[in-house]
Amino acid sequence: MRLAKVLIEHPIIALDLPFDYLIPETLNPFVGVRVEVEFNKQIIVGYLTAIVEDKRSLAQIENDLGFSLKPIIKVIDEAPILNKELVELATQLAYASVSPLISIYQAMLPPSLKPTSGKKAKIKLAKFIRVLNTSKDGLTSKQAEALASLKLDQEYNKADLTIAAGLVKTLILKGKIEEFSKEVYRSTSLKEVTTIDGHKLNPDQAAVLNEIKNSADQVYLLQGVTGSGKTEIYIDLAIDYLEQGKNVLILVPEISLTPQMVERFKLRLKFPLAVFHSGISSAERYDEYRRIVKGEVRVVIGARSAIFVPLTNLGLIVIDEEHSESYKQDNTPQYHARDVALIRIKTHKAKLILGSATPSLETKARQLKGLYHGLFLPRRINDLALPEVKIVDLMEQTKKGGSDLISPPLKNAINEALAKQQQVILLLNRRGYAPSISCRNCGYVYKCPNCDVALKYHKDKNQLHCHYCEYKSAYPTTCHDCNSKYLRYIGFGTQKVEEYINENFAEAKVLRMDLDSVRDAKGYEKILKDFGEQKYNILLGTQMIAKGLDFPNVSLVGVLNADVGLFNGDFRANERVFQLLTQVVGRAGRGVKGYAFIQTFNPTQFAIKLAAEQNYEKFYLKEMEYRHERKYPPYRYFALMMFSAKKIDDAEKAALIIKDLINKKQLADVEVLGPSQPYIAMNYGLQRLRLVIKYKDRDMILKLMNELKNYQFDNKRVSISIDIDPYKEI
Ligand code: ADP
Ligand code: ZN
Ligand code: ZN
Repeated sequence: MRLAKVLIEHPIIALDLPFDYLIPETLNPFVGVRVEVEFNKQIIVGYLTAIVEDKRSLAQIENDLGFSLKPIIKVIDEAPILNKELVELATQLAYASVSPLISIYQAMLPPSLKPTSGKKAKIKLAKFIRVLNTSKDGLTSKQAEALASLKLDQEYNKADLTIAAGLVKTLILKGKIEEFSKEVYRSTSLKEVTTIDGHKLNPDQAAVLNEIKNSADQVYLLQGVTGSGKTEIYIDLAIDYLEQGKNVLILVPEISLTPQMVERFKLRLKFPLAVFHSGISSAERYDEYRRIVKGEVRVVIGARSAIFVPLTNLGLIVIDEEHSESYKQDNTPQYHARDVALIRIKTHKAKLILGSATPSLETKARQLKGLYHGLFLPRRINDLALPEVKIVDLMEQTKKGGSDLISPPLKNAINEALAKQQQVILLLNRRGYAPSISCRNCGYVYKCPNCDVALKYHKDKNQLHCHYCEYKSAYPTTCHDCNSKYLRYIGFGTQKVEEYINENFAEAKVLRMDLDSVRDAKGYEKILKDFGEQKYNILLGTQMIAKGLDFPNVSLVGVLNADVGLFNGDFRANERVFQLLTQVVGRAGRGVKGYAFIQTFNPTQFAIKLAAEQNYEKFYLKEMEYRHERKYPPYRYFALMMFSAKKIDDAEKAALIIKDLINKKQLADVEVLGPSQPYIAMNYGLQRLRLVIKYKDRDMILKLMNELKNYQFDNKRVSISIDIDPYKEI
């Protein structure tokens, strides 16, 4: 009897185990393919994890099991969809991130290959022609001319031909050329470009490159100020590995940064490259994936999910802007790309470069402890000065009656930059028009019915949006509570600033870049290209404009409100604000003298002050002191257990059971806090409570959490989710 173990997607983490199915005589599936099976009277798609030969008869097996086995209905794939390395990685990661194995497979594969999707991804075929015979016999002069324009043995895509379709048809009929179908890739990374030489590395860069090449260490922190030439080093190092026959993976934190990175790599590399992130179409991702699987690609550049691409023979992984929180996925599976990279480089005996101007505290601490090899670029290329930064005290400005949107000093600076034909970047880390709407009469604040957080006003659509769950509702005409007509906006977002700039800087052309104005990679590419070509004077946006961008004509950066996110109760708030401000300030002065203005109501707050000084080392020491005092990461870590239920009482009871259970174990350096309400108190209509578990020993907490994830509450209406190193919600 052949039995199949089939993993299916199930909302209950405790059921994250393969189920048994019968393999009919007529089917011959491989381990690692998708199959259709019946589960709970529904036909669903699952992932075949093992095939077992069972010597017992079917009747015997069913008798032993106590239920009858169902057969596999259909085999979807001809070949396994994941290779051996990834299957092993998935198992490790499911444990290390306390996530269902199937969710890891989901994260690893492009949408069309997801193990619970029955979609059979289609390859795209196109008609090609090839010359069979170059003799002009029997051809008119026009036909002969057309034939002569084609080379023998070369394949031409019919869509690219300049010869008239009628002529092609005749030449086929006369046996001079043949037509055939062939797969074409829907890939934008294939465009051929001629390569150019890179810059001659300056002595600092050359020293860093040599140190990496000559060291046996596997993990490096490349800490270099903005514009110090880190990317140039990634490229040189990549070429070195590629020439040795090894493959290379480059991660950037935001989809918006891939075009610039891809452009720079393409200009230098003679090796085939693929782009991989969720901003490209599913067909394109499928094709890129297949090119990688077939070994046709040597370099992959992408965002977080690209950490899973099936490149074999990896020599180098680069994680640029390693401190970015976007490397942590905050829904299931809650993995961090850095942790995945650390597993992959072990398997491949490869090197990992973590690059940043403002390393995460965890990474910096590890480097100082000697776990990571530290490399430094303290100066900008060509010794360009870092921008001159001024802090603008908004309290003082509003007392003087100035606007708290763009204060007079910033306004003057913008006008000066515009007069010199230089460009300006403005940061406001808050999209929409206004961050909340309330009633003047009774104070009612509009909140999301699913998440219980304030709804944001979007003026272009005249709607209220929830930025967590995308709930939308029409802008109300009267107050929900008291029927008063007097509703008001509180605060401002990027849409309002755009309006303000259009009204107050009539001659300036402004481009807005946030999640509402760009939804896909093409949108990003266009905005950045247009700004690079100086079709616009001002680029206004959320944190997505803060990182990586390299525009030499930007002389001024303005931060409209540095306080956004400072007081949200998150223990990483200082770190985030410091990183964001340092990064965005670093966008100025890359070709011309740079200035930056940081508007804030908290001019003496240390993260803001030290970001203005661009003093990472001082910030690191001060913030580490604060973390040490409070036993925060990287001294102790947090694990988060979220309990969701329709009724808050149910969630509370479950949380208390678990709290009690952990406390009884009396584990060293483990402390359970809560239950308490998270910032997003509701999720898809479910009430949420959380336990925060402080710990020191990761192995111990992993063991504990992997045990607890299977805890069977008597009350089936409660579900748990676990994040052992959360980036949000704390
Ligand atoms: P980072 O990644 O640290 O921000 P980049 O590698 O983007 O720095 O370098 C900043 C700018 O300096 C880029 O425009 C890059 O082309 C240029 N650059 C880098 N290295 C050199 C070099 N050795 N000589 C001249 N220009 C360089
Ligand atoms: Zn009201
Ligand atoms: Zn919501």
